[in-house]
Amino acid sequence: MEPNIKQLPQLAKDKHKETKGFFAKLKKKPPKHLDYLMQELHEKEFERTDCLDCANCCKTTGPLFTDKDVARIAKHFKMKPQQFIDSYLRVDEDNDFVLQSVPCTFLGADNYCSIYEVRPKACSEFPHTDRKKFQQISNLTLKNVAICPAAYNIVEAMKQRINQ
Ligand code: SF4
Ligand code: SF4
Repeated sequence: MEPNIKQLPQLAKDKHKETKGFFAKLKKKPPKHLDYLMQELHEKEFERTDCLDCANCCKTTGPLFTDKDVARIAKHFKMKPQQFIDSYLRVDEDNDFVLQSVPCTFLGADNYCSIYEVRPKACSEFPHTDRKKFQQISNLTLKNVAICPAAYNIVEAMKQRINQ
Protein backbone atom coordinates (compact mmCIF):
# COMPACT_ATOMS: atom_id res chain seq x y z
CA MET A 1 0.00 0.00 0.00
CA GLU A 2 1.21 3.52 -0.82
CA PRO A 3 0.88 5.71 2.25
CA ASN A 4 -0.75 9.04 1.54
CA ILE A 5 1.29 11.84 3.06
CA LYS A 6 -1.73 13.19 4.97
CA GLN A 7 -2.50 9.76 6.39
CA LEU A 8 1.12 8.89 7.14
CA PRO A 9 1.30 10.19 10.76
CA GLN A 10 -1.81 8.17 11.67
CA LEU A 11 -0.57 5.06 9.83
CA ALA A 12 2.76 5.31 11.63
CA LYS A 13 0.94 5.82 14.93
CA ASP A 14 -1.20 2.73 14.34
CA LYS A 15 1.95 0.69 13.67
CA HIS A 16 4.05 2.34 16.41
CA LYS A 17 3.78 -0.44 18.98
CA GLU A 18 4.48 -3.15 16.42
CA THR A 19 7.42 -1.22 14.92
CA LYS A 20 8.89 -0.47 18.35
CA GLY A 21 8.73 -4.16 19.27
CA PHE A 22 10.27 -5.11 15.92
CA PHE A 23 13.18 -2.70 16.46
CA ALA A 24 13.71 -3.90 20.05
CA LYS A 25 14.18 -7.47 18.76
CA LEU A 26 16.31 -6.27 15.88
CA LYS A 27 18.64 -4.47 18.29
CA LYS A 28 19.04 -7.60 20.43
CA LYS A 29 19.80 -9.87 17.50
CA PRO A 30 20.49 -8.06 14.23
CA PRO A 31 20.68 -10.45 11.27
CA LYS A 32 24.17 -10.86 9.81
CA HIS A 33 23.04 -9.63 6.40
CA LEU A 34 21.25 -6.51 7.72
CA ASP A 35 23.55 -3.98 5.96
CA TYR A 36 22.99 -5.72 2.61
CA LEU A 37 19.26 -6.02 3.16
CA MET A 38 18.94 -2.32 4.02
CA GLN A 39 20.90 -1.35 0.93
CA GLU A 40 18.58 -3.50 -1.21
CA LEU A 41 15.35 -2.22 0.36
CA HIS A 42 16.54 1.40 0.25
CA GLU A 43 17.53 1.23 -3.42
CA LYS A 44 14.31 -0.53 -4.40
CA GLU A 45 12.15 2.03 -2.60
CA PHE A 46 13.99 5.08 -3.95
CA GLU A 47 13.85 3.74 -7.51
CA ARG A 48 10.09 4.28 -7.34
CA THR A 49 10.09 7.37 -5.12
CA ASP A 50 10.39 10.87 -6.52
CA CYS A 51 11.30 13.15 -3.64
CA LEU A 52 10.33 16.15 -5.78
CA ASP A 53 6.70 14.97 -5.54
CA CYS A 54 6.98 14.94 -1.76
CA ALA A 55 9.53 17.16 0.06
CA ASN A 56 7.71 16.36 3.29
CA CYS A 57 11.00 16.19 5.22
CA CYS A 58 11.94 19.72 4.08
CA LYS A 59 8.42 20.98 4.80
CA THR A 60 7.92 19.52 8.26
CA THR A 61 11.29 19.00 9.93
CA GLY A 62 14.64 20.58 9.51
CA PRO A 63 18.09 19.03 9.52
CA LEU A 64 20.80 19.55 12.10
CA PHE A 65 23.58 21.77 10.78
CA THR A 66 27.09 20.70 11.72
CA ASP A 67 29.92 23.24 11.90
CA LYS A 68 31.13 21.88 8.55
CA ASP A 69 27.68 22.38 7.03
CA VAL A 70 27.58 25.96 8.34
CA ALA A 71 31.05 26.75 6.96
CA ARG A 72 30.23 25.25 3.53
CA ILE A 73 26.81 26.87 3.13
CA ALA A 74 27.99 30.26 4.46
CA LYS A 75 30.82 30.18 1.90
CA HIS A 76 28.26 29.41 -0.83
CA PHE A 77 26.38 32.58 0.15
CA LYS A 78 29.66 34.52 0.55
CA MET A 79 28.74 35.11 4.18
CA LYS A 80 30.70 34.73 7.40
CA PRO A 81 29.57 31.60 9.32
CA GLN A 82 28.21 33.77 12.15
CA GLN A 83 26.22 35.88 9.68
CA PHE A 84 24.67 32.71 8.25
CA ILE A 85 23.86 31.43 11.75
CA ASP A 86 22.24 34.73 12.73
CA SER A 87 20.15 34.81 9.55
CA TYR A 88 18.87 31.25 9.39
CA LEU A 89 19.65 29.13 12.44
CA ARG A 90 18.90 28.74 16.14
CA VAL A 91 20.27 26.47 18.83
CA ASP A 92 17.82 23.76 19.95
CA GLU A 93 17.38 22.05 23.33
CA ASP A 94 20.17 19.56 22.50
CA ASN A 95 22.54 22.42 21.70
CA ASP A 96 22.47 21.70 17.96
CA PHE A 97 22.07 24.23 15.16
CA VAL A 98 18.66 23.85 13.49
CA LEU A 99 16.53 25.98 11.16
CA GLN A 100 14.75 28.97 12.67
CA SER A 101 11.55 27.85 10.95
CA VAL A 102 10.00 25.15 8.79
CA PRO A 103 9.27 24.65 5.90
CA CYS A 104 12.96 25.08 5.22
CA THR A 105 13.87 28.53 3.88
CA PHE A 106 15.86 26.91 1.09
CA LEU A 107 12.93 24.88 -0.27
CA GLY A 108 11.39 26.27 -3.45
CA ALA A 109 7.71 26.17 -4.42
CA ASP A 110 8.69 23.52 -6.98
CA ASN A 111 10.12 21.35 -4.14
CA TYR A 112 13.69 21.93 -5.35
CA CYS A 113 16.36 22.70 -2.76
CA SER A 114 18.10 25.97 -3.66
CA ILE A 115 21.31 24.85 -1.90
CA TYR A 116 21.19 21.24 -3.08
CA GLU A 117 24.92 21.03 -3.95
CA VAL A 118 25.96 22.26 -0.51
CA ARG A 119 22.96 21.09 1.56
CA PRO A 120 23.55 19.79 5.11
CA LYS A 121 24.89 16.25 5.43
CA ALA A 122 21.74 15.28 7.34
CA CYS A 123 19.63 16.26 4.31
CA SER A 124 21.73 14.24 1.89
CA GLU A 125 21.52 11.18 4.16
CA PHE A 126 17.81 11.40 5.09
CA PRO A 127 15.95 9.08 5.83
CA HIS A 128 19.15 7.13 6.71
CA THR A 129 17.64 3.81 5.60
CA ASP A 130 20.84 2.74 3.79
CA ARG A 131 22.94 3.32 6.88
CA LYS A 132 25.17 0.56 8.15
CA LYS A 133 24.14 -0.94 11.53
CA PHE A 134 20.63 0.37 10.94
CA GLN A 135 19.46 -1.14 14.25
CA GLN A 136 21.38 1.63 16.05
CA ILE A 137 19.10 4.39 14.78
CA SER A 138 15.77 2.80 15.61
CA ASN A 139 14.55 5.70 17.78
CA LEU A 140 15.23 8.16 14.99
CA THR A 141 13.58 5.85 12.45
CA LEU A 142 10.47 5.53 14.65
CA LYS A 143 10.07 9.30 14.19
CA ASN A 144 11.01 9.29 10.51
CA VAL A 145 8.35 6.73 9.49
CA ALA A 146 5.73 9.35 10.40
CA ILE A 147 7.40 11.95 8.13
CA CYS A 148 8.80 10.00 5.20
CA PRO A 149 6.62 7.62 3.15
CA ALA A 150 9.75 5.93 1.76
CA ALA A 151 11.06 5.21 5.28
CA TYR A 152 7.62 3.87 6.24
CA ASN A 153 7.60 1.49 3.26
CA ILE A 154 11.18 0.37 3.90
CA VAL A 155 10.42 -0.47 7.54
CA GLU A 156 7.27 -2.37 6.53
CA ALA A 157 9.32 -4.28 3.94
CA MET A 158 11.92 -5.06 6.62
CA LYS A 159 9.20 -6.60 8.79
CA GLN A 160 8.25 -8.88 5.88
CA ARG A 161 11.83 -9.90 5.15
CA ILE A 162 13.19 -10.43 8.64
CA ASN A 163 11.72 -13.37 10.50
CA GLN A 164 12.15 -12.84 14.20
S1 SF4 B 1 10.04 12.68 3.18
FE1 SF4 B 1 11.16 10.91 2.29
S2 SF4 B 1 10.17 10.55 0.32
FE2 SF4 B 1 9.59 12.60 0.99
S3 SF4 B 1 11.11 13.97 0.08
FE3 SF4 B 1 11.86 13.45 2.10
S4 SF4 B 1 13.21 11.65 1.77
FE4 SF4 B 1 11.93 11.89 -0.07
S1 SF4 C 1 18.47 22.43 2.98
FE1 SF4 C 1 17.47 21.68 1.13
S2 SF4 C 1 17.31 19.46 1.42
FE2 SF4 C 1 17.71 20.37 3.43
S3 SF4 C 1 15.69 20.72 4.39
FE3 SF4 C 1 16.27 22.60 3.30
S4 SF4 C 1 15.35 22.41 1.26
FE4 SF4 C 1 15.39 20.35 2.18
